[in-house]
Amino acid sequence: MRCTHWRRVPLDLAREARQKSTAPYIDRAVQCQLSAHDEGEHFGLLTDAGAYGTALWLRWHETNETELVVLPDCPVAAPGPDGEGCCLFADHPEQHTWEDTPREVSCTS
Ligand SMILES: [Zn+2]
Ligand SMILES: [Zn+2]
Repeated sequence: MRCTHWRRVPLDLAREARQKSTAPYIDRAVQCQLSAHDEGEHFGLLTDAGAYGTALWLRWHETNETELVVLPDCPVAAPGPDGEGCCLFADHPEQHTWEDTPREVSCTS
């Protein structure tokens, strides 16, 4: 199951994300993309329109500030010739997105 935490994207971070990427629009709020977890930081995808092989993420913790981070894509795909790619970033905690089924949303949502 996917983590159900949402975070509103601060205006200054949304502006910064647009400057660092080619995305014309950044969502006002993002949902954590990780599998459900009880502790640690949450990661919401802002846009994958940054430099090739990277994406802009919003990182937050219950009690801490929200941060904009640029992270490389997770290189681990599901086994098999048509293995689905993982939607998360390299060295992420929790499962790869393709391990977490059923998945309600695609990577690009
Ligand atoms: Zn989370
Ligand atoms: Zn992964």
